[in-house]
Amino acid sequence: VCPTAALTGVGYISEVWDALFNPKKKVVVQVAPAVRVAIGEEFGMQPGQIVTGKLAAALRRIGFDGVFDTTFGADLTVIEEGREIMDRLKSGKNLPILTSCCPGWINFINYHFPTLKYMPSTCKSPQQMTGAIAKNYYAKKMGIDPKDMVVVSVMPCIAKKYEAALPYESTHGIPDVDYSITTRELAKMLKEGSVDLKNMPEETFDDPLGESTGAGVIFGATGGVLEAALRTVYEKYTGKTLEDVNFMAVRGTQGIREASIQINGRTVNVAALSGLGNARKVLEKIVKGEAHYDIIEIMACPSGCVNGGGQPYCHDRDEVIEQRIRGLYHIDRNQAIRKSHENPSIQKLYQEYLGEAGSHLAHELLHVESHN
Ligand code: SF4
Repeated sequence: VCPTAALTGVGYISEVWDALFNPKKKVVVQVAPAVRVAIGEEFGMQPGQIVTGKLAAALRRIGFDGVFDTTFGADLTVIEEGREIMDRLKSGKNLPILTSCCPGWINFINYHFPTLKYMPSTCKSPQQMTGAIAKNYYAKKMGIDPKDMVVVSVMPCIAKKYEAALPYESTHGIPDVDYSITTRELAKMLKEGSVDLKNMPEETFDDPLGESTGAGVIFGATGGVLEAALRTVYEKYTGKTLEDVNFMAVRGTQGIREASIQINGRTVNVAALSGLGNARKVLEKIVKGEAHYDIIEIMACPSGCVNGGGQPYCHDRDEVIEQRIRGLYHIDRNQAIRKSHENPSIQKLYQEYLGEAGSHLAHELLHVESHN
């Protein structure tokens, strides 16, 4: 059940079909990490079965002109948020930094802890970053007028619909994401288009917004955003290679996980929280001065996006969630590149377009002044 007060999500299936049948529009799609280990359930496959390649093929079959991976945006989020983390660790100001990629959680802090609103990272979420880069960098590269581009996102989440509708425009008044649909809604569309996901061949996402790392993939599980950020922050902060990228202490399905990590002789206290009840408990302690952290990841849904309100319905929820999480970490383990800053397409994006992390253009496209 979606805990984000967004239970009655707006469906955009007919709008997406209209766009796909409109010859004047270039319609691109991005798929969130947690979708690839869950949508197979709608087609008779096991929970946690990885269908990344089949999904790319299926999306092409129903007519998308560009098939992208929100995991690319997750890697980009790590670079931008990693920069903010390092700045705040160095200055000692505005700590703890709180992650900002879950709109359900951001909604919660705005309503319930307005005095802490300076704490979340100013980064947009991977969904919004991927949309902004598609309509700016990619559109420019391909010679497409951004006004003729439609960005569709496939999310495990109902709250992502209202996030996409927030006034985040970074392309001359055009939204970063036009339509956000859920995993269940995409499954419905594929069935309407007679596309059987199970029997699709394995294909890959399109370059350059299709290349991603293991770090980006684990965004779909609670603790994954924090772990991905630590892999990058450790190397950037120390200048040393992180030999073991697995931060096991922040993994798992317990609602509150804490760890202390040594970075350049400094003890960095981190926590991964899932479920808004757990977020409330920890934030109340912070307000009272009873808890001291440097970095906190918060996800509204218990266990994170694998358990989002837009995912396939299931019995044996705990077991299904465990299997979806195992699927994501399996992808991470087998990925050639497991650190976001080593993603070649992200490196090229900065070289060709953004300059450096936190640049003026990066702020314009990828950050917000305020999450209000
Ligand atoms: Fe959406 Fe993920 Fe947040 Fe749940 S945890 S509200 S699925 S972003």
